[in-house]
Amino acid sequence: MISLVIPVYNEEKNLRPLMERITAAMAPLGRPYEVIFIDDGSRDSSLEILKDLASRPEVRVVELTRNYGQHAAILAGFSVCRGEIVVTLDADLQNPPEEIPRLVGVMEEGAYDVVGTIRKHRRDSLLRIVPSRIVNRIASRITGVAMSDWGCMLRAYRRPVVERMVACHEHATFIPALATVFGKRVTEIEVAHEERHGGVSSYPLGRLVNLQFDLVASFSDLPMKALMYGGVAMSFLGVCFGVFLAVARLVYGAVWAAQGVFTLFAVLFVFVGLQFFALGVIGEYIGRIYREVRRRPEFVIERIHGDGEGTGP
Ligand code: UDP
Ligand code: MG
Repeated sequence: MISLVIPVYNEEKNLRPLMERITAAMAPLGRPYEVIFIDDGSRDSSLEILKDLASRPEVRVVELTRNYGQHAAILAGFSVCRGEIVVTLDADLQNPPEEIPRLVGVMEEGAYDVVGTIRKHRRDSLLRIVPSRIVNRIASRITGVAMSDWGCMLRAYRRPVVERMVACHEHATFIPALATVFGKRVTEIEVAHEERHGGVSSYPLGRLVNLQFDLVASFSDLPMKALMYGGVAMSFLGVCFGVFLAVARLVYGAVWAAQGVFTLFAVLFVFVGLQFFALGVIGEYIGRIYREVRRRPEFVIERIHGDGEGTGP
């Protein structure tokens, strides 16, 4: 069985066309499937439309108590879906449902755990595309998985990966990145991308920045490390500056050194640098506390081969 997991937040204009296109796209596949819509506290008539759609045998609707955000909504959907292969997509028709069979095909042919996607001819504003490029780079480095488009939500996951993600109980998370922690065989394919069908994006700039920070901060201590290294670099430059001043003072005399004003700066830089370093060290411990609190499993065993009981005495 294939599960489609679709988070919905104020998408009243898009739900019916989406459902129609899903039905049309899934029919030729000739396999059982379910569609799970998660109403993430919509304020428009999305929930009413969803309740209506829920009368179809393949549809289930999860109603959340309030708006928790796209990734939390997807996790909620994961917790109730039943398929062996789970596909996530957006409700605004930016991810064409017609791509689902190909996604499933690639996953099964290559026995992949996760199939990511790259948006070909992305239909978003430049203001979205440029920051997204930068974040993609960072995300690839910190997860150690080279994917070129982390933001596209049209992705397929295998059941075990989905279950492990649900077991994580993380608060601020980024599903595509979290999946790479648990999926061994990962690949990505190109898919089409369309303009938003109706309504407006629920990600104004502030929220977008927040989401990208979730991605970077919950998967690495990069920001804190940057602070630490920055501090060390600053101290080092301060020392160099001091040495330079001392030498120049000997060569050009006291007047050149403005009676020691510059020396003061050199000393200042050294200490400011050390302060940043100290902040970074404290941050390192907080980071460790954060990792502990998150309780992400230390390791996940895929399977144990052989039932060797050991040789007799
Ligand atoms: N979404 C959600 N909760 C939110 C914000 C968005 O469930 O708080 C859903 C939304 O309904 C859509 C998907 O997440 O299905 C992507 O949202 P959107 O299209 O606004 O983001 P964009 O494509 O602009 O990045
Ligand atoms: Mg969208």
